[in-house]
Amino acid sequence: MNKRGHVLNAVLLSIGLGAVLQPTWDIATAEMILKLSVPVTLGALMPDVDTAFGKHRKTFHNLPMLAIFLAWPIYFGNLQYVWIGVATHYILDVVGSTRGIALWYPLLSQEYNLPVGIPVSSSRSDLVTVLVTGLEIGAFAGILYYVWPAATEYSTQVAAIIP
Ligand SMILES: [Zn+2]
Repeated sequence: MNKRGHVLNAVLLSIGLGAVLQPTWDIATAEMILKLSVPVTLGALMPDVDTAFGKHRKTFHNLPMLAIFLAWPIYFGNLQYVWIGVATHYILDVVGSTRGIALWYPLLSQEYNLPVGIPVSSSRSDLVTVLVTGLEIGAFAGILYYVWPAATEYSTQVAAIIP
C-alpha cells in the first residue's frame, strides 16, 4: 500500500481500537482514540522509510524490527503504541497488496505474502484498506471479549484444581 493507504488504515484502526478499549462513547473514548492515533499513525508510516534507506519491503518490513518497537517502551519508557502502527503496516502490505514482505530479514531475504490483495496502484485500494482494517478491529475485539476472558477463566479453573 502507499502512504495514503497506511494513514487511512492507522486512523481507522485507532478509532476502532479506541472504541473497543473504551466503549463508553464519551470523552474517555475520544481520549483513547486520540492517545492511540498519533503514535499508531507514526508507526504505520515508519516501515516505508526503507524506500529511501535500505531495501524496500525488507529493511524495515520484518519481525526483528517489530520486536525492537515492542521492546522500546519497556526499556526506554517512550514510543508506546508505535508498534501497533508498524504491525498494522505489515498486515496491510501482506494481506492487502500483491507483494509480500521479508519477515525474517536480514536472516532471510524471502518475501512472504498471502494469495489475496490487489496492486498498490489499484483504484480499489481504499476499499481493500477499509476491509482489512475492519478485520483487524474485529479480530482484536474478538480476542479481547471472548478469547481473553475464556483464557482467564480457564487459568482460574486450573489454579483451583492445582494447589
Ligand atoms: Zn510497506
